[in-house]
This record gives sequence, structure tokens and C-alpha cells, in this order.
Amino acid sequence: MPDLTYQPATYYTVMVRCNTAGDGTEKHPPCVNYQREWQVDEVYSNAGQPVIQCGPCQNLVEILAATKMDPQPEVS
Ligand SMILES: [Zn+2]
Repeated sequence: MPDLTYQPATYYTVMVRCNTAGDGTEKHPPCVNYQREWQVDEVYSNAGQPVIQCGPCQNLVEILAATKMDPQPEVS
């Protein structure tokens, strides 16, 4: 995983990848997003570490790159 640092309470645009390969059984097949890369907008960094789940498999995705949003989105 790249060594990314985040400012807390900040929104980022991130590129992520799901690494869930499953275990080869029918019960745990590879995620439909396995080895797919996609962009997630408006990711909140919380205390300095964003947590992003893959929708289909619910596992945490690997964050490949993160760009601080400029300007930051308005939050109401
Ligand atoms: Zn997945």
C-alpha cells in the first residue's frame, strides 16, 4: 500500500482497488470488483485515515492514490 498521509477531517478523491480474491471455493468467490480500480469522490478522512469498503464484498479496499479536493465540498 502506498504511504499516503491525510489531513484529518478533509475530503479526498481517491483511487481504490479491491483485492478480494476469495479462496477458490464457491462460497468465497473472487469479488466482482477484484483487481478493478475505480474512483471514489468525496472521501472523508475522519481522524486522518479514510476507510472505504467495497460494496459487493464489504472488505476494505486498497487506496492507490488520494487527492485532496480543492475546493473542499460544502457540508451542510
Ligand atoms: Zn470487493
